[in-house]
Amino acid sequence: MTARTDPKKSVQIAIAGSGLTALVMARALAETGYQVIIFPAESDLAPPPDSRTTTINAAGQRMLDCLGLWQALPKNPTSINPTPINPAPISRIRLAEGSPQRGGWSLDFGDGSSPMAYTAENSALLSACQQQLAGESRVLQAASPLADISWQAGRPVLRDRSGQGWLPDLLVACDGRDSPARRAAGLKIWDRPAGQTALVGRLRLGLPHQDTAWQRFLPGGPLALMPLPENQAAMVWSLPPKEAERLAAGSHQDFETALMEAFGGELGQLRLLDRLAKWPLRPSFVPKRTHPHLILAGDAAHALHPLAGMGFNLALSDVAVLADCLAAAGRRGLAADHASILADYEQKRVVETAALSAVTEGLNRLFSTDLLPLLPVPAKPFARAPMAARPLRARLAGIGMTLLGRSRMRTKLSDIAMGGVLARARLLEGKLPR
Ligand SMILES: Cc1cc2nc3c(=O)[nH]c(=O)nc-3n(C[C@H](O)[C@H](O)[C@H](O)COP(=O)(O)OP(=O)(O)OC[C@H]3O[C@@H](n4cnc5c(N)ncnc54)[C@H](O)[C@@H]3O)c2cc1C
Repeated sequence: MTARTDPKKSVQIAIAGSGLTALVMARALAETGYQVIIFPAESDLAPPPDSRTTTINAAGQRMLDCLGLWQALPKNPTSINPTPINPAPISRIRLAEGSPQRGGWSLDFGDGSSPMAYTAENSALLSACQQQLAGESRVLQAASPLADISWQAGRPVLRDRSGQGWLPDLLVACDGRDSPARRAAGLKIWDRPAGQTALVGRLRLGLPHQDTAWQRFLPGGPLALMPLPENQAAMVWSLPPKEAERLAAGSHQDFETALMEAFGGELGQLRLLDRLAKWPLRPSFVPKRTHPHLILAGDAAHALHPLAGMGFNLALSDVAVLADCLAAAGRRGLAADHASILADYEQKRVVETAALSAVTEGLNRLFSTDLLPLLPVPAKPFARAPMAARPLRARLAGIGMTLLGRSRMRTKLSDIAMGGVLARARLLEGKLPR
């Protein structure tokens, strides 16, 4: 049992979490002039390895560069990452509907030369953030992890593992999809399991990837290959959970056969380089991301289906917008929990969050026909579905994708994919908040 040592300590801003959102948040809010303390969870002291990569769009890359985090990405092997890779540019995105037999890549973005986004390793991003924060005197790192968040007299009260109580003016909750802070405040969440598990792994490609991100919308879920240096690719393949279990439990050879059948021969022979990791997908939408003394950011505020590679990019926009709101309030001498800050943040985050949540959920439901409860699930969800068995909406969506590929909307979508369009903030332009 922990000893309770009141009185509580007052602090201007407390950040809950020590995932990617929390660490970038801490680094960015250091620029706002407010006093910041960051609290990890107990489980963060020995986190499980994260073999995922993240697609960082061009605006996100400018922001990380401006905060000194991009340059700090490790280039040398570490104990958690023995084979680091540099971020790889993505200068083209190619999308296809259905299996390889159904036809080619009907939607194509990017000019193939200027980067629209980059693929970076999650472990490398985390270690860059940790390194930068270690030398950041404007951010206090809590000596003891967070044990409990409660709501007392309309305010959040934090208690760390040593029993110390903390009373922040503003709690910035970056504590993930199941956010204890959001629950303590009683904020609503709309969610349902995607009915899919993502298989994540690194591949060696038989043919050059041409700095291109590839995605096939298959009946069981989307299959994405993101380019990595040395002609490798990061794979995220969303599948019905049983199918994902079966493939993950089988041999590398069986997996590669299934993968080739699903993706086709565009990139030559695909070889799996490491163990497959499984991520059950549970997208969520939080209709209101503020509450007196509380702001939600990152997956605590929205968890997206990974099909568009946008989840963390949305979190970067949260950080950039909040940094602007706080910097502006600081100049006016306002407290960190001033109602105008909360209102400003809420208003500036609603459009992008709602749009990307709807688009990712909609695309997944449109193309992943195995999610239709009344349709029989094919024995091999990645395999070719006969024309007659493909529901009308999937066929229409396929035609829509081809038409979109020929329309002017293509340029608009390409701009959105590069970031900084649906949300505007100084950091997304590569400038510090002020
Ligand atoms: C398979 C997959 C692929 C993806 N690919 C991409 C991609 O290509 N591009 C992209 O932009 N996004 C991608 N995403 C989304 C992206 O990974 C997430 O949006 C991002 O990792 C969220 O980070 P976070 O810090 O908000 O949440 P989390 O990573 O969940 O971190 C939450 C943190 O809060 C801590 N915590 C929990 N409870 C407490 C507590 N009580 N007190 C304090 N701390 C607490 C946790 O320990 C953790 O440190 C992908 C997601 C998946 C599943």
